[in-house]
Amino acid sequence: MAISMVAIAYVPYSKLIHIPLGFVNILLRKRGPVGVPSTIDFEDESLESYGKNQLKELSWKELFDTDACMRCGRCVRSCPANLSGKSLNPKQIIQNIRTLMEDKEKSPEAEQPLIGKAATEDDIWACTTCRSCEQQCPVFIDHIDKIIEMRRYLTLMESKFPHEAQCMFRSLETNSNPWGIGWNTRHDFLQSCGVKTIEENPQAEYLYFPGCYGCYDTRNQKVSAALVKLLQAAGIDFVTLGNNEKCCGDPARRLGNEYLFVTQATENIEIMKKHGVKKIITQCPHCYNTFKNEYPALGGDFEVIHHTELLASLVMSGKLQIKNKFDQTITYHDSCYLGRYHQIYKQPRNLLKAAGFKLKEMKHTRKKSLCCGAGGGRMWLEENHGERINEMRTKEALAIHPDLIGTACPYCLTMLDDGVAACKARKKVKVLDIAEILAEAI
Ligand code: SF4
Ligand code: SF4
Repeated sequence: MAISMVAIAYVPYSKLIHIPLGFVNILLRKRGPVGVPSTIDFEDESLESYGKNQLKELSWKELFDTDACMRCGRCVRSCPANLSGKSLNPKQIIQNIRTLMEDKEKSPEAEQPLIGKAATEDDIWACTTCRSCEQQCPVFIDHIDKIIEMRRYLTLMESKFPHEAQCMFRSLETNSNPWGIGWNTRHDFLQSCGVKTIEENPQAEYLYFPGCYGCYDTRNQKVSAALVKLLQAAGIDFVTLGNNEKCCGDPARRLGNEYLFVTQATENIEIMKKHGVKKIITQCPHCYNTFKNEYPALGGDFEVIHHTELLASLVMSGKLQIKNKFDQTITYHDSCYLGRYHQIYKQPRNLLKAAGFKLKEMKHTRKKSLCCGAGGGRMWLEENHGERINEMRTKEALAIHPDLIGTACPYCLTMLDDGVAACKARKKVKVLDIAEILAEAI
């Protein structure tokens, strides 16, 4: 009994304290949609700063996270940035914040900045917001919120961000797409596929949102063309916003430029509401996530459907008939924003099986899938340290010798295409979007 009493009394002074605190953190975890950054009220004149760079700016829950961390290291072992040789270490960020708290307890006047002490600028910009760390953390610690807050501080307060981001921000401001291509040519490709705008067919059931990649990028235009062919074959009544469509805002938000995100998002929401849009089809998981989880906070409540979900239901209901079956092996790469953010794992795989493929899984798959390296706005940033994440992922795919690599995201498609080219595999393995595969199958 005496030993037990001593052991219990010892718990708060030992590492064992993280076990009860971990349980409390599990109970206090965020409910609802995952990975949604907090909103900033830019009308609030009392705000002295945007983003976070001081301990006192962190919420009690953000500080409590650091007490709950059990230092198990699962977050690091699944972090694509860390695995590819970059200095980003999600566990260390949490632990560094804890050390800053301890320092503050010892000398309350000392206020040390988070940026530089908890995480270096390189660490902050290396994150792909893939959520692998949060998914693997046994006590539901939120790593990404803290990283995004530090990015916001750097971007909005100090105008300090990688120079490549500057071009992207300017392009979004002037032409509402990350490349700065004329906004008035946005609908040109979709028009050549016979797609009407919402002004031409205001009664259409669905708004199809191809996104910047689906409208402008020549590789991803093929995905748009395939999806249009499938929707037309299934008799779906759909239109686009035409040249009034703007970037959904995801890249700006992930790179900390919340003001630019709000501008793009508000303009999209206004035009959608003006035309009475109810249902949106997206082919980009980042648009999907932004519309579904992030536009409601700005007043945009729509029913959002990713093309893999819609195509799976069209095949199931018989509106799309598979006529040509593929007698090949395929591996499917889960997009982080479709898989870990929205648990869409089943529909793309069911479509591939329906098209006759033999499905082979990679070493990291579904919840444990490895990012392609483009999320979190990293699509527009250089990767200067360590191995390229897309090549690391492509090697995993090629290691199981598939005939094809399938995916359902324009970023992943681009990154894996580049990865296959860089890996110089003996057999040229094609990377295709599920819509392209299905368009051939019907
Ligand atoms: S996985 Fe969670 S508990 Fe484990 S070290 Fe990382 S943050 Fe801490
Ligand atoms: S979100 Fe992904 S890249 Fe960022 S710290 Fe977590 S595991 Fe690493």
